[in-house]
Amino acid sequence: MARYLGPSCRLCRREGVKLYLKGERCYTDKCAVDKRKTAPGQHGARRTKLSDFGTQLREKQKLKRIYGVLETQFRGVFEKAATHKGKTGELLVQALELRLDNLVYRMGLASSRNAGRQLVRHNHILVNGRRCNIPSAVLRVGDKVTLGEKSREMAPVLASLEATKRDGHGAPVWLKWDSSNFTGEIIAKPAREDISIPVREQLVVELYSK
Ligand code: SF4
Repeated sequence: MARYLGPSCRLCRREGVKLYLKGERCYTDKCAVDKRKTAPGQHGARRTKLSDFGTQLREKQKLKRIYGVLETQFRGVFEKAATHKGKTGELLVQALELRLDNLVYRMGLASSRNAGRQLVRHNHILVNGRRCNIPSAVLRVGDKVTLGEKSREMAPVLASLEATKRDGHGAPVWLKWDSSNFTGEIIAKPAREDISIPVREQLVVELYSK
């Protein structure tokens, strides 16, 4: 599946918030959002008042960019969420949160979702004991994600685990992390209040409902 290959910081500057796309760098004073408050491009410094449509569009773009999903795939996730009972916006965020690349990131094995995606693509990750190299795979309650034995000494993985420990942002409450086996188990569906992303998902639903 295709993915965005352009500059990540530009995406954050466009949305005007940190989307934490670059791992460690996002926590340093090199962060482009902290250094330059304007949107990218020649007219980025102009102030424009967004229409309702514009606001909804920005929320949708923000959500896509946080999880590194392009439009077609994102629309597919949305449509699937819309077929289930419950609040579509919350179900959409939940489905994105249960993607394998995001889980690897949440477990602290990777410093960003992009790095998590790379670990998955390079066959370092097992799901329920079997290799899985599909970053967009959506897991369920009870599924276990494990880092392969030969991959446990990799410098980026160790650095990421160390940074997670140092900054005190461990695995979320719905994900049980077993550090001795490098395994995370999904013990519950993530509730919206347990997912700390700066997005008003209801606006995405409104946009797609037009
Ligand atoms: Fe976004 Fe991270 Fe770049 Fe800052 S350093 S602009 S948070 S990707």
